Amino acid sequence: MRLPQSASQLRFSHHTLSSISRRPQAIQHLASSRNATLPLRSSMPSIPFSGSLFGSSSSSNMSSSSFSDQRSNDEWRAVLNREQFRILREKGTEPAGTGQYDKHYPSHGVYACAGCSAPLYKADHKFKSGCGWPAYFDSIPGAVKRHEDRSFGMARTEIVCANCGGHLGHVFKGEGFPTPTDERHCVNSVSLKFSPEDDAQAAQKGESK
Ligand SMILES: [Zn+2]
Repeated sequence: MRLPQSASQLRFSHHTLSSISRRPQAIQHLASSRNATLPLRSSMPSIPFSGSLFGSSSSSNMSSSSFSDQRSNDEWRAVLNREQFRILREKGTEPAGTGQYDKHYPSHGVYACAGCSAPLYKADHKFKSGCGWPAYFDSIPGAVKRHEDRSFGMARTEIVCANCGGHLGHVFKGEGFPTPTDERHCVNSVSLKFSPEDDAQAAQKGESK
């Protein structure tokens, strides 16, 4: 049996080994040289490039860091049901004509994001489009972000909640609807949560019901 040359060397080795235990290739160097920590630097792997920077298949090129609500997918799964997660976080679409708010025309109130409760649309933004999804000619200022979506071979403008990035639907322009903007925000009911009280705080309260 071979013993370490001295107790002090043993302590040094133990301490250093535990601090670099994630790099097993370094242990051999350590055993043979007191300066082992220096060559370690050159053997460290370089930082891999993130493939997402150059990804081309994603329908979204928005950085998640541009939203103030930064919850992870696991955190969203904990608060959303399956259908909400599929549509809000995976950019799904509810079947036409099935949504809770498709034929919903209250005289006042606020439609908030079903994910983060940020107020998005007012009742008087909503109009009858006959398209099978809730339609709004405008949003609460700054509440909705839009960007180009080239999925499914179409060039469309996706709309997301400006606070959490949750997918709402798409916006279409110039269809000839008799509205002040001639725009149609085509939104999934699943992405929304209606509160009959006409202010932002009411929408927040609506969440805790
Ligand atoms: Zn949101």
